[in-house]
Parts: sequence; structure tokens; C-alpha cells
Amino acid sequence: MEISRIKVPQWENHVGLLHGFMGRRGGKSIGPYAGLNVAYRVGDDPKVVSQNICDMKLAVGIHDGRVVTMRQVHGDHVVEVQDKTLKEAGEADGMITSEPDIYLGVLTADCVPILFVAPSQKLVAAVHAGWRGTLAGIAVKTVRIFNNQYGVEPSDLEVALGPSIGPCCYEVKDDVAAPLMKKWGKLTTPSVLVKQGKSFVNLRRLNRDILRAAGVPGKQLFQVGPCTSCATEDFFSYRRERAETGRQISLIGWSSV
Ligand SMILES: [Zn+2]
Repeated sequence: MEISRIKVPQWENHVGLLHGFMGRRGGKSIGPYAGLNVAYRVGDDPKVVSQNICDMKLAVGIHDGRVVTMRQVHGDHVVEVQDKTLKEAGEADGMITSEPDIYLGVLTADCVPILFVAPSQKLVAAVHAGWRGTLAGIAVKTVRIFNNQYGVEPSDLEVALGPSIGPCCYEVKDDVAAPLMKKWGKLTTPSVLVKQGKSFVNLRRLNRDILRAAGVPGKQLFQVGPCTSCATEDFFSYRRERAETGRQISLIGWSSV
């Protein structure tokens, strides 16, 4: 089976930018990890995971470049990556780099993978936003780092939100809905939905609205891919599989060649 990759159509114009939201198709893992699982910490055979990462890099067209991931902990820490020999950037939920040939990868199975690019400055960032990261404001924190550390205005950013669990499937209890509404106020009106006493959260919509409020123009905010829980054949979903499942990777970076 061929590896599937969702791209942002508007980013095809950025020559040298490589990016993609991978799904579970392709790859060699079996059982609950079938097939393109790229996570070592979920119980899959590490040799097969390494093979999957290799296959994935070839499919994307990364030959000499390095894919860097992080130990994701549902926090709001964003690290700057400069070391081209690094495989893992430590404990964090966001990474930013100005270096070519470093491809920042975020692993998900329902949470929102968010890819950032500042095309003129050739900077990229990759962020993992579940409900905790969304509550902590990791998306807006990343926008501020672009601005404070690199002088990139929010209006110069383009941001894509990839496949993640939709409001169709993401029912939450009050311990999730209430803090989100308290923190983000009116921004949650379209994304925290109460139907017959049940709450459903649209994490992508909420992050999109948070990013727009932080100054990223709506026309530079893209949403690609389906609900991970609905798309059984195409994506891993932690909620759907009740914990034992793989992780898909979303990545972004500039090639120097
Ligand atoms: Zn769904």
C-alpha cells in the first residue's frame, strides 16, 4: 500500500519547502500499529518503526535531511532546533527552526498537528495541540516566538492544521469543556458545542480562531484532512482504538538543494 500524504495546495508555490501530513497507509507495522506507525513509545517493534521512518522520508523526498521529533507531553514548551545531528529535541510540544534540511515532525493520533511557515524568512515550526496544549495556548505562544526571536510578524505566517479528531467524535466532559471556555471565552462559541447535555469540542476550529485572534490572517490559515476518528482506514485514532494504536507524522522543513 502506498504511503498517503496530504499537502497544503497553497504551499506548492514555496520552492524548497517540504511538508506533509502522513496517514497510516503504507508502512510495515502490523496489528493495532498497521501500517505507517512512526512512534517508538507505543509498543510497536522498534526495527519496524525505523523502517517506516525510512520509507516515509523517501516518500516525502527527504534524502540527506534529518527528521527531528520530540517527547510530547501535552505541554506548551516550544524548543528552537539548530543541531542537524539531533533526532529528538527533548521534552516539548513545539519546535521551531531556521536551519535548512531539518524537518520538524509532530506525532499525533487525534490531537491537532499544526505546521507553521514564514516563507520570506524560511522559518518553520511544528506543534502538537491536544486539548491541554490548546488550553495552554501553544499555538499563540509559537506565534509570539516567531515575532520575538525572529522578527516575523503574525501577518507573515502561514499555518496549516492537519487531520485530527472532529466535533463529530470528540465528546468531552466538563473537566475539558469548562476550562477551555473559561480561558478562551467567546472564541469557543463555534468550537465548544453543547448538544442535549453533551459537550463536543472542535479543536481545529478553536486553534484556528486562536491563531486568527493572534494576528494570522484568515486567508493564511489552512485546514487539511478529515476527522482522524471517522477515517478508520487512513488515520490512527487514540479515541477510536481506545489507547492501543500507532501515531502518524506531520512534518515540515526547507531543503537546501
Ligand atoms: Zn469524526
